[in-house]
Amino acid sequence: MKTVYVDNAATTAMSDKAIEAMTPFLKGVYGNPSSLHTVGQVAKEHLEDARERIAKCLNCEPREIFFTSGGSEADNQAIRSAAQNGARKGKKHIVTTAFEHHAVLHTLKKLEKEGYEVTYLPVDKDGLITAEEVAAAIRPDTALVTVMFANNEVGTVLPIAEIGAVCRKKGVVFHTDAVQAVGHIPVDVKAQNIDMLSLSAHKFHGAKGVGALYVKRGIPLNTFIDGGAQERNKRAGTENLAGIASMAAALEEACANMSVNCKKLAALRDRLIEGLLKVPHSKLNGDRAKRLPSNVNVCFEGIEGESLLLLLDAKGICASSGSACTSGSLDPSHVLLALGLPHEIAHGSLRLSLSEYNTAEEVEYIIEEVPKVVEYLRNISPVWEELEKGLKPHLI
Ligand SMILES: *Cc1c(COP(=O)(O)O)cnc(C)c1O
Repeated sequence: MKTVYVDNAATTAMSDKAIEAMTPFLKGVYGNPSSLHTVGQVAKEHLEDARERIAKCLNCEPREIFFTSGGSEADNQAIRSAAQNGARKGKKHIVTTAFEHHAVLHTLKKLEKEGYEVTYLPVDKDGLITAEEVAAAIRPDTALVTVMFANNEVGTVLPIAEIGAVCRKKGVVFHTDAVQAVGHIPVDVKAQNIDMLSLSAHKFHGAKGVGALYVKRGIPLNTFIDGGAQERNKRAGTENLAGIASMAAALEEACANMSVNCKKLAALRDRLIEGLLKVPHSKLNGDRAKRLPSNVNVCFEGIEGESLLLLLDAKGICASSGSACTSGSLDPSHVLLALGLPHEIAHGSLRLSLSEYNTAEEVEYIIEEVPKVVEYLRNISPVWEELEKGLKPHLI
């Protein structure tokens, strides 16, 4: 059976270019960039070359890029650092949204326990917030605004440039978790007024376990991993040069092909949405227009998302019911709840996240199979029976 992988928001397959870029560092170029001898200095040159290329893709300076072990670490460091530096000036308030990734939300929960105050801006039913709402939430004691660039579950793209402009005007540090955006939609830290930005290689066909934090020059960055002087004393530990090389190659490739990929993906996405919404009592989650070209998130009333996923997996379709980080727990996704969906609807959600490696044939296969599985599950669902008998009202 063929595998149809449509869980690219969880992770992506590595591109050939990313693998090729990585290989020399697994085989021949083994030096430690901190070593003073030639073998080390060759490694150092490659490290700085990767930094330069990544900086170019984001429109920043190489020295504004700090390599990390991924998006989670970058989020943790950016938020903790901005919080600590705010606290030093008596500012212990942070503004965010209710539907951030757990790398952001769980960091903030910890900060709350340490005496910080966090405002969680509610998102609207389409999964959006406005810059005006951010502006209204900023107080004299606000140290940081952290708002994701694009949501990993419902795919909405937030007005980052506008939010950045608001923060700059008010003198508040602005961080964005851009893990779902970088390499997928245009990101320009200067034009979009971004002070700190997190990215992760494995979300754009690079290696897993490597990412970066952009920090605008002049914004202080604290260190959380103590040890050597790597990353200009901001992140100790011998650099993952193979991973970093794969990240630079993958990002360059993604940026070079971005407009072509966006067009292709949007067409596949729209065909999927059209096909899946033909299922009665189904609903698209997340704004129809302001969404990633790769994201489809649909709810089907009367079924369990987990059962849907397992039956789809049996047909070779690898999808998700939301965030990979919450699967395994039976709680509905905090993102869908933040959009105001009732628990019973949020439970029946299906996220299909595409990459340019997906094909029109795969999309047709999904459109053929999903409705069959939904119908099968509804036929054995006591909830669906009650809905059909009119004992309970349909919610969608
Ligand atoms: C995947 C993801 C992360 C975590 O990145 P890792 O590199 O896996 O740690 C953070 N934020 C968002 C929005 C993500 O999609």
